[in-house]
Amino acid sequence: MAYKISADECIACGACADGCPVEAISAGDAYSIDPSKCIDCGACADACPVGAPKAE
Ligand code: SF4
Ligand code: SF4
Repeated sequence: MAYKISADECIACGACADGCPVEAISAGDAYSIDPSKCIDCGACADACPVGAPKAE
């Protein structure tokens, strides 16, 4: 399992990447999560102002 960022919702603020303990999140027009690194901690979802990271 890994979290996934909804590209339609992400406003590229960077808050999720700053809080990820395993540096799984990459910057871009929309930020993205490497599912091979994500440990499913939920910190990105808690940090995101628009609810873009979703548990899958
Ligand atoms: Fe990083 Fe945790 Fe979000 Fe996975 S759920 S991308 S480990 S902050
Ligand atoms: Fe996008 Fe939310 Fe991450 Fe900000 S915290 S970069 S809006 S997913």
